Amino acid sequence: MSQHDFLTLDDVDTANKRVFLRVDINVPLDPSTHLILDDTRIKAVSETLSELEDARVVLGSHQSRPGKDDFTSLEPHAQALAGCCNQEVKFVEDVIGPHARQRIAKVERGQVLVLDNLRFCAEENVDDKPEKLLKTHFVRMLAPLFELNINDAFATAHRSQPSIVGLAEALPSAAGRLMEKELGAVSGLLVEPKRPCVYILGGAKVEDKVPVIKHILDREKADKILLGGVPAKLFLRAKDMKISTNDEEEVAVLREHIETAKGLLSKYGDKIDLPVDLAYEDSHGRRVDHEIDSQPVKGPALDVGVKTIEKYSEAVEDAATAVANGPLGVFERNGFDVGTKKILESMAKSSGYTVIGGGHMVGLASILGIDEKLSHVSTAGGAMLSLLSGQSLPGVEALVRAADRMRNQKVHSWTSL
Ligand code: ADP
Ligand code: MG
Repeated sequence: MSQHDFLTLDDVDTANKRVFLRVDINVPLDPSTHLILDDTRIKAVSETLSELEDARVVLGSHQSRPGKDDFTSLEPHAQALAGCCNQEVKFVEDVIGPHARQRIAKVERGQVLVLDNLRFCAEENVDDKPEKLLKTHFVRMLAPLFELNINDAFATAHRSQPSIVGLAEALPSAAGRLMEKELGAVSGLLVEPKRPCVYILGGAKVEDKVPVIKHILDREKADKILLGGVPAKLFLRAKDMKISTNDEEEVAVLREHIETAKGLLSKYGDKIDLPVDLAYEDSHGRRVDHEIDSQPVKGPALDVGVKTIEKYSEAVEDAATAVANGPLGVFERNGFDVGTKKILESMAKSSGYTVIGGGHMVGLASILGIDEKLSHVSTAGGAMLSLLSGQSLPGVEALVRAADRMRNQKVHSWTSL
């Protein structure tokens, strides 16, 4: 038995078993050609796949969600997977229908059958309670075809959906190697991080960064939180600075979180570092750095300024632990990637323990070619932030319940469902 509350590949016999493997290979796609732009998440499942070489593997993932341009078939993912493992990889254009079920029944030892986008099934788009998920059509159709369920989708573990929770309720289940590695790296930050420990939080979504700031500081797990992106605008506004924002939607979000930000500043003001300058775009499209004083910034802030970058970089280079999630600026725009790039480079230079997460930040690190110089590059954004804000992950809780059931030898009878 491994050291966790859930089982891992060390605890289960996979030889010749029909295994459902849930992964998260939801990747950025070119909007018109649907070619895969970044295959980090695909490569990340190769370790688990190589340990399943003697099993009959059926692999499931989602890609984006209904209504989005990149909500597409998983066929290109199957082709890319073929280059990352030794098994023969096949694809079926179906998820739970008769065509898929026939193909699942015929998977041979050493093969991997990739199902189509799991979110093509409506039930897979709804979060629900475990007992409800156990009774979904999705689970009723798939679970009886498998002897084992392996969840390697850390990046989707914050969802309570049929393939993440329902199948783990129904089948003997264990965590894959990526799930194990990610949980170790991220939850380790909440145990005893080496000091000084700094967090760099930016990006657009303040609603998932504010709970992290609160939890990390309440638990005394960080010495400094350095803010960029929209979270920085929120806290500057909470200090009554006149900071312009990009649009009405952003203003509404900031208004919603302003009281929480004020509360955090009054309790932990010495631990929350805000930009001392910001960069905006002038009417000629040039970057202008503006020191924060009583004068309002003359346009929406698109990056942290050079003085802030210098200050933050020093803090990162001196830290024994540095954790970053969310870019410091609108790095997609020419001239406004300076803050994010410099912070990533400082993390790469550091001899401390360095962790980054979030799709945008991780994509940039891989473009800069520095991902290998960091201690841990998470494949997750939301799941990492959920863990860091003290929430438990439904996907992991389901694996823990499955382990308890297996220890107690309780097996579900399909006729009772
Ligand atoms: P991640 O994907 O790294 O977790 P988010 O999804 O929260 O981060 O946010 C990424 C987006 O945040 C990027 O598209 C970036 O342009 C945007 N962003 C960063 N700084 C700002 C800013 N100052 N104003 C508006 N948007 C910003
Ligand atoms: Mg994002």
